[in-house]
Amino acid sequence: MQNIVLFGPPGAGKGTQSAFLVDHFGFVHLSTGDIFRSNIKGDTELGRLAKTYMEKGQLVPDEVTIRMLEDSANAHQGAIGFIFDGFPRTTAQAEALDQFLEGKGQSILGMLALEVPEEELRTRLAKRAETSGRADDADPKVIQKRIDVYNEETAPVAKHYQSQGKYKGVQGVGSMEEIFGRLSAAIEGLS
Ligand code: ADP
Repeated sequence: MQNIVLFGPPGAGKGTQSAFLVDHFGFVHLSTGDIFRSNIKGDTELGRLAKTYMEKGQLVPDEVTIRMLEDSANAHQGAIGFIFDGFPRTTAQAEALDQFLEGKGQSILGMLALEVPEEELRTRLAKRAETSGRADDADPKVIQKRIDVYNEETAPVAKHYQSQGKYKGVQGVGSMEEIFGRLSAAIEGLS
């Protein structure tokens, strides 16, 4: 199986590019942010818990997030491969994902990291707020918090994959097609 981590700060384009990659390669897309949002919409216990963190721009606790991710992956037994989007966001999540996949005789083939300057991220998120309906995009303080949390807790996850020789940086600025072309080439270069 071809399992890929699509990595990058909030607003880097992970969700947009995941949709293209799913169409082109047939991956199953697992976005922890999307799964949390659908739980919030359905007013589940998990959704109510996640909301208290998401509206402040904080991470949902590892234990809850990891269990949810594993359940979601287990629900797609026939998948040819997963794109993990927004997960792992902490080193503990990365370690848990390695163990989980190892238990199934699988692994992560590579981490593709979308690189976008911080100024551009702020501009994109402010623009996305006009259409996304996401409360966490609408408040500049929450956007800043998400960028800070990314720099402090999530950026170190790259090292986890660098040490396994699995990290690939991909320039995340340009047209959607250009970025998709770079990601596709990077995926084809894996394995
Ligand atoms: P973005 O990448 O634009 O921040 P996401 O949809 O990936 O958007 O995440 C939205 C929010 O959901 C995060 O700010 C965080 O509160 C929560 N979240 C998503 N994925 C995780 C994760 N792996 N661990 C903890 N919290 C998460």
